[in-house]
Amino acid sequence: VWGNCLDYIKDNIPTQSFKTWFLPIKPLKLKDNVLSIQVPSKFFYEWLEENYIKLLKSAITRELGEDAKLVYSIVMENTYGNANPYTVKIPSSNRAPIKNPKVSMPVDIGDKGVKNPFIIPGLRKVHVESQLNPNYTFDNFVEGDCNRLARSAGYAVSNKPGGTSFNPLLIYGGNGLGKTHLAHSIGIEIKDKYPEKTVLYVSAEKFTQQFIDAIRNNTKNDFVHFYQMIDILIMDDVHSFAGKEKTQDVFFEIFNHLHQHGKQVILTSDRAPVDLQGMEQRLLSRFKWGLSADLQVPDLETRIAILHQKLYNDGVEMPADVIEYLAYSINSNVRELEGALISLLAQSSLNKKKITVELAKQMIDKFVKNTTREISIDYIQKVVCDYFDMPIDLLKSPTRKREIVQARQLAMYFSKQLTKASLASIGAQCGNKDHATVLHACRTVNNLAETDKRFKNYVEDLRKKLTLQ
Ligand code: ADP
Ligand code: MG
Repeated sequence: VWGNCLDYIKDNIPTQSFKTWFLPIKPLKLKDNVLSIQVPSKFFYEWLEENYIKLLKSAITRELGEDAKLVYSIVMENTYGNANPYTVKIPSSNRAPIKNPKVSMPVDIGDKGVKNPFIIPGLRKVHVESQLNPNYTFDNFVEGDCNRLARSAGYAVSNKPGGTSFNPLLIYGGNGLGKTHLAHSIGIEIKDKYPEKTVLYVSAEKFTQQFIDAIRNNTKNDFVHFYQMIDILIMDDVHSFAGKEKTQDVFFEIFNHLHQHGKQVILTSDRAPVDLQGMEQRLLSRFKWGLSADLQVPDLETRIAILHQKLYNDGVEMPADVIEYLAYSINSNVRELEGALISLLAQSSLNKKKITVELAKQMIDKFVKNTTREISIDYIQKVVCDYFDMPIDLLKSPTRKREIVQARQLAMYFSKQLTKASLASIGAQCGNKDHATVLHACRTVNNLAETDKRFKNYVEDLRKKLTLQ
């Protein structure tokens, strides 16, 4: 197809122009009537646009018909030496959008389907692909005590981007707790409510790389201008700016411009601003202008709700006791929780095994073997209460009813045996008792198990349940 286009073009312009402007073009692919071509530089693209777009258009529509589209790829070497194209999409038919080219991201799928960001400098009225992952919505972000403030601040920002005192909004928290997800949710929500606004998600690392490339290519101004025209800038993992002074400086410049113009900035970081070492003071003080909200490790109920939601989204069912077991056992972060769920589902379908607590335990022993996992006190309390068919609240209440005291003592005893928790913290979690009470409980259980047959059975049953032996 491209060969035919070239033949047609050749016949319509001077040979020298043809050699200069058309031979260097590389056809990339033709798919769904969209022809992708690669041009050596942005300047080259602009020249084509100014001087030969009509010719190109007629050449292409002759070959592919009126609804054909043309996509330019402009290749720019980055420091790793591989191509880092930015693509300019030009609808080539009926409408007259040539003066108003659409800019789109290269379709190179990175982390969880998020495409790589890119820069297209110097174009009027550009449409920037937001780089948002459509799966990371507010709807999919389960609310819990652990994230309530950050979530509702994010939601408030999405209602009035740039118009709240949460500017910047800084979301911080440990690995796998949902920072990236929440940041995307805000972006998606804003795009939904304000389609005309330019939203851009970019990781701080990518930003740094783009900046380095821009310096190398002498396009720092284009780089800065590109970022300054964004309405909502979502910068993920700003802690990675630590120690990178030049990048911090350029970000400071961009930040100030955006902030002064009432544009919204959303930042995420793996720690609170006060703990961000290697960050310039003036940048840190900007971070504190708005609101910092943290994400905590989700509590048990939230972990269960998250599992339910993932299962629901995938249309998969799982026995409630297995869900609870997973939620009890994996209390580090949501990413691991998700990982465990996925590998459990994979295990069961690969080996055609029923999903049971037993299978989940085997899987977790393999899956989480590198992180020090231990049975949690929560889990012990739950198993003990299930066993005696009583609510957990009672176990934690100050009541002195015999059966309840007994269950409480058993929970303390197993917490001492099966976890590394101190007597004091076991006491604290079993209804605000002190360490002496826990010690007493352990002795009582030992004594009773020797003298009372029925009680001994309880202990053995519970031990089996807890250790799954
Ligand atoms: P972070 O950026 O803090 O390291 P992510 O945003 O990448 O964490 O979250 C890790 C995974 O956990 C993602 O798949 C995300 O969808 C999921 N996740 C985190 N928090 C929640 C939540 N509250 N509800 C649902 N899924 C969550
Ligand atoms: Mg992240």
